Amino acid sequence: MSEPQDAPVGWGIDPVLLEVLACPAEHHAPLRQGTPDDPAAPALTCTECGRIFPVRDGIPVLLLDEAVGGPGLGAVS
Ligand SMILES: [Zn+2]
Repeated sequence: MSEPQDAPVGWGIDPVLLEVLACPAEHHAPLRQGTPDDPAAPALTCTECGRIFPVRDGIPVLLLDEAVGGPGLGAVS
């Protein structure tokens, strides 16, 4: 049994990994690190639909059911 290493400070995703990840919605748009409000947040934001996907234990959860925001929800003020 091996323990995963601690996530790096400030959680940085591997740029190569980020490049191959895509939004699970039908447009499959690229994602970018962080949220619009906090670029250092442990999350990935879709550049197309604006959905925000959580990152748990350093692993992006690219599920539409887990996403926050996106089309149809309107702006949160
Ligand atoms: Zn999207």
